[in-house]
Amino acid sequence: MTVSLAERMQELRGEGALDVFTRARAREAKGQRISHLELGEPDFPTPAHIVEAGVRSLREGETRYGPPAGIATLQEAIATAFQAQGIPATAEQVVITPGAKPMLFYSILALVEPGDEVLVPNPGFPIYPSAVRFAGGTPVFYGVTGAGIDLHEIAALVTPRTRVIILNSPHNPTGWVIELAVLEELAQLATRHRLSVISDEVYSRITYAGPPSRAPSPAAIASLRDRTIVVDSFSKWAAMTGWRLGYGLLPRAIVERITTLAVNGHTCVPTFVQRAGVAALIGPCGPAEEMLHQLHARRKLLVDGLARLPGVRCAAPRGAFYAFPDVSELLENQGISTDTLASRLLDQGVAALSGTAFGSRGEGFLRLSFGASPKVIAEALTGIRHYATTIAKPEPSVP
Ligand code: PLP
Repeated sequence: MTVSLAERMQELRGEGALDVFTRARAREAKGQRISHLELGEPDFPTPAHIVEAGVRSLREGETRYGPPAGIATLQEAIATAFQAQGIPATAEQVVITPGAKPMLFYSILALVEPGDEVLVPNPGFPIYPSAVRFAGGTPVFYGVTGAGIDLHEIAALVTPRTRVIILNSPHNPTGWVIELAVLEELAQLATRHRLSVISDEVYSRITYAGPPSRAPSPAAIASLRDRTIVVDSFSKWAAMTGWRLGYGLLPRAIVERITTLAVNGHTCVPTFVQRAGVAALIGPCGPAEEMLHQLHARRKLLVDGLARLPGVRCAAPRGAFYAFPDVSELLENQGISTDTLASRLLDQGVAALSGTAFGSRGEGFLRLSFGASPKVIAEALTGIRHYATTIAKPEPSVP
């Protein structure tokens, strides 16, 4: 080999969703019809006023480098949105990045020393343990279900080496949304053990209880404010996955260092993309509310459809846009693993993710996105029903 990779490159992992998407596309190229429920992406187009703001910026010649931490107008709009949530954020604490992922990566690189332990949700977004290991740290997994987390379990996992807890609410893949009372208890634990918190809030505006509102954030709790990095983006709620626009709300003490990481990593986010983000925040909120309304209906369609299938149990997620059905009975009947079930569903034309794409505690579950259209969801349900009722038979036991 002419190029020798650094050892840490072994630690990086990809995302199961993108792997399944690639396999599904290969089948489509051969003529198979696939219902895509694997990707974490709403199928809505970016609202017109947001696109218009981006295009206008380009036409006006905003095509040069911008400030590394982001344009002031967007930093201010983000800070104002946090203030409306009761978080006393200032524009200087906001650093804009190309999506939430770079801010997650920078935060982990900035906080985790080799040998540090980081509390990471399982099941959870696979980039967390990947980035923690890349930084030389050790992920220590705590459980999450649609019903919540177990603070006793988390407390028992803390050691003198624990430095950070990664929180993700609303949670991918279970749809769990943290309650304020739980956050307050978690705050006591974090302060007692001097833990920093990385709070991934990319689904914070996608919740289904009551009128549109953001899920509670640890940054709203005074004792956590100086130890919390909030990571958020426009990808999901504003249907802007391809624009690549996210940000961090940082404790003042680390803003300069994280901005230097941004300078090293990406220089700045294109100004036209940031102008689109300003329009998303201060423009009409009707389009985002309409998307949420439609997600609400799609959630019902998918969850009700799944709950009616033999061997499948599915609770309605409280946030994000994923159903996370328990398919363990179906697996037991057949004597197969969740990964095998996901492969067999792909054979039936349904692209779903095995829960194990989110860690060991995802065994027995599938993740299905209702970011897909009602038509695609209905087709997928037909495919899964066909599998569950006619194909799924117990495997003959090996003598
Ligand atoms: N965090 C979680 C929990 C996600 O599910 C995703 C995307 O699927 C991201 C972060 C990445 O967001 P972005 O596309 O803004 O980088």
